[in-house]
Order: sequence, then C-alpha cells, then structure tokens
Amino acid sequence: MSDNAHVIDQSKPSIARVYDYLLGGKDNYEVDRAVGDHFKVNLPGSVDIASTNRRALTRAVRAMAEAGLTQFLDFGSGLPTADNVHQVAQSIDPDTRVVYIDNDPIVLAHGRALLATNDHTTVIHADVRDSAAIRADPEVARLIDFDKPVGLIFSAILHHLNDEEDPQSVVAYWAQQIPVGSRVFISHFRSGDNAETIQAESKLQSTFGRGRWRTDAEITALFGDLRVQAPGVVAAARWHQVNENSAHIGAPDRDLSVWEELIVSAIAEKR
Ligand code: SAM
Repeated sequence: MSDNAHVIDQSKPSIARVYDYLLGGKDNYEVDRAVGDHFKVNLPGSVDIASTNRRALTRAVRAMAEAGLTQFLDFGSGLPTADNVHQVAQSIDPDTRVVYIDNDPIVLAHGRALLATNDHTTVIHADVRDSAAIRADPEVARLIDFDKPVGLIFSAILHHLNDEEDPQSVVAYWAQQIPVGSRVFISHFRSGDNAETIQAESKLQSTFGRGRWRTDAEITALFGDLRVQAPGVVAAARWHQVNENSAHIGAPDRDLSVWEELIVSAIAEKR
C-alpha cells in the first residue's frame, strides 16, 4: 500500500469510525458522528445492529475456541472495542494467536496501542480484496500455522464488497489455505423489503459508495463448499452454539425486530 494509505483522513467518514461511534466508542471524528447521528435520529432501531453483531461474534469466537481453535484471522476487524476477538479466545486458551486485518489506518494506530504487550496478537494494514498480499505478510507467517486448524472471521465485512469484487472468491481463497477442522464465521446484512431497512442500505451506499446486502441464499453461497453448521444462516441475534442434541444454548425465545433480522450470521466447518 502507498504511504498515503496510512494517513487518517478526517474529512471523509470511515466505516470503521462510524461503526465505532454506533458502538459508543471514542475513536471517531465529527464527520463520522454526522453519519452516525443520521442513523440515530432517522432510523433509531438501526443503532443496535452493531452491538447485536458484536455479541454474535463473541459467541462465535467462544464456540470456535471451545472447539479447540487457537489461531484466528479477523478480516475487516474494526477498531478495538469491548470483548475483542483475542480477549475472548485467549480467555479460553492464552496461547491463541490472532491477526487482525483492516484497510483503515485508524485501526492500525489504535490496534497497535492495544496490543503492544501481546506477542500472540497483531494488526496488519491490508485490503481483504488482496488475499495474496495478506497470505504473504510476515506477521501472518509469524503467528499462523496453516497446517493446524484456523478460524477465519468475516464479521460485517463482506457486505462492503460489491459483486464485481467477488467476496465468494475471497472466502474460497482462504478456505483453500486452511486444513480440515478449520472454521469460517460470516456475518452479513441481508436484503429485505422493509422501507426503513432499505433506507439504511441506501444511506450506507450513498455515504461510502459501496455496499451490497444479500439474500440468505447469496450469503449461504459465500461459504462455497464449506459445511454450514447448525443452526445455519440465521439472524445474528439467534446465532448460538448448538449442542449435540441440536438444542440451541441460550437463543432468545422472542420475536426479533426488523433491525435484529437484518444481520445474519453462521459458522461453517472445513471437512
Ligand atoms: N469486523 C468488525 C465487527 O464485526 O465488529 C468490524 C466491522 S465494520 C462494520 C467493517 C470493517 O471492515 C471496518 O473496520 C472497515 O475499515 C473494514 N473494511 C472495509 N472494507 C475493507 C477492505 N476492503 N479491506 C479491509 N478492511 C475493510
């Protein structure tokens, strides 16, 4: 990446910083808060999507770590927040290795500060559309052993890739790199016919010039040949670990709001 890629541009909103604002974080600027406030004022229900997604991610990382995974690549990882992937996974096995990957320079700046004393975790500045560069990154080589199962995390990132950027081939590339027993987590905005959620999609597209919400079938197709585990591609609020009797552990027993239905998640396994 060019040197300019490392400069934090405060004149335009960034996805990472708007998301941080909606999560109640402090690593954002006026230009980001203006976008976030648009959601807070005009589409108040949308604000909870960020925390709904983070809670599903936390449950998923815990499930993968409890299944024995001790290395993770987190694509489009975002700014540090509560319950970061390395904290959740290292609470189960302190030797767990985590590589955070994001193309927003603010993530690198704040991530490095957070991780200064954690030898098993790093953050790299890279674009998820350039899988080969990430694979060749010395930090990835230092921390990830591709002969052992890896957890790949694509949390609220693939809907930021348009169809011509082929998110399915991004997942397929990484699915080729990892051995049997590895797992892939995806969370993703799903398209629908609700006027307010369509408005939210339009706002993201007009602000960032990108964004593609997908149907459940399109999201399932992102996993390619990987085997999606129970409970399948479901609302992130409903994604909970399923035990051997197929009983959901702790899934909410209530109707979800249209906003909670908007973000889905699933884990697939490489067999
Ligand atoms: N994964 C985190 C989570 O689920 O809480 C953050 C999700 S946030 C909505 C999307 C993140 O993806 C942002 O931090 C943004 O900078 C990053 N991102 C967007 N496009 C990217 C790309 N092409 N390469 C790397 N990161 C990207």
